[in-house]
Amino acid sequence: MTARLIDGKAAAAAIRKRVAEHVLQFTARIGRPPGLATVLVGEDSASAVYVRSKNRATAEAGMASFAHNLPDTITEDELLQLVADLNTDERVDGILVQLPLPRQIDAGRIIATIEPSKDVDGFHAINAGRLAIGLDALVPCTPLGCLHLLKSELGDLAGLNAVVIGRSNIVGKPMALLLLGESATVTIAHSKTRDLPGVVRQADIVVAAVGRPEIVRGDWVKPGATVIDVGINRLPTDDGKGRLVGDVAFDEAVEIARAITPVPGGVGPMTIAMLMRNTLVAAHRRAGLSDPEGL
Ligand code: NAD
Repeated sequence: MTARLIDGKAAAAAIRKRVAEHVLQFTARIGRPPGLATVLVGEDSASAVYVRSKNRATAEAGMASFAHNLPDTITEDELLQLVADLNTDERVDGILVQLPLPRQIDAGRIIATIEPSKDVDGFHAINAGRLAIGLDALVPCTPLGCLHLLKSELGDLAGLNAVVIGRSNIVGKPMALLLLGESATVTIAHSKTRDLPGVVRQADIVVAAVGRPEIVRGDWVKPGATVIDVGINRLPTDDGKGRLVGDVAFDEAVEIARAITPVPGGVGPMTIAMLMRNTLVAAHRRAGLSDPEGL
């Protein structure tokens, strides 16, 4: 059996198109477009690429994009002041502070300062807590994108065994909570898990968010399982350009699974699409409108 490829690019494009339609309606109704402020500190090249594509996607969706690119010599107090200014800026519905931050800055303090209603990354403790107790929250973009792909692929997830590998606050934990919210039976595996292959073999749904190239082997995958590969790992190549691989040994797993996300082209594009979605949702909630439909 060869697995169906889950096309994250196409799914992301469809979401971004829907967001853009809602942006037109919002702008006509409220008199201004939804706005996203991005904050990039320093010269980290991967972060710069991510932030540029987020700003581009924001503009393409018809939203206002406020890009703040700061030197890595900035102090924590200066960054806290910028976040405070963005919190009260009425044109800004979403604030995204790109991580990692330079050593002199406590990322936890910065995140805690973001107004929760503008926390489109969903990293603030208020949003994490609201997700945990099943209230409306702004949910981290990557796991939200994974859930969207899973529901499009499988429909109802109730009762399915889901194994999430990784327990970060950004991916693994919120992913597990989202799956629990769909009434899946959820196991969270991590670096201390015993017999990881045996745990994964129980799963109808595998979400791998580890950051280790091809750690999940094909013979760990239960035949017919659906595999979501969040990992982005760059392996060196002779031409020096490097090659992206996921956390799943794709060539092996594709023979066993029912459906699988490729890397690249799977989860990656969904993250930005969900950032656009979260910004639109934040704008609606802040304007006292009901959530945009179909997103
Ligand atoms: P992280 O380093 O914060 O967390 C990794 C998790 O993996 C930890 O909870 C750890 O317990 C677990 N782990 C480590 N080694 C393990 C092992 N041998 N066996 C089992 N579990 C192990 O990473 P993260 O921020 O959650 O990101 C995970 C991966 O997802 C990375 O490759 C990252 O680049 C990628 N990522 C992709 C996107 C995207 O848009 N596609 C977004 C965020 C992160």
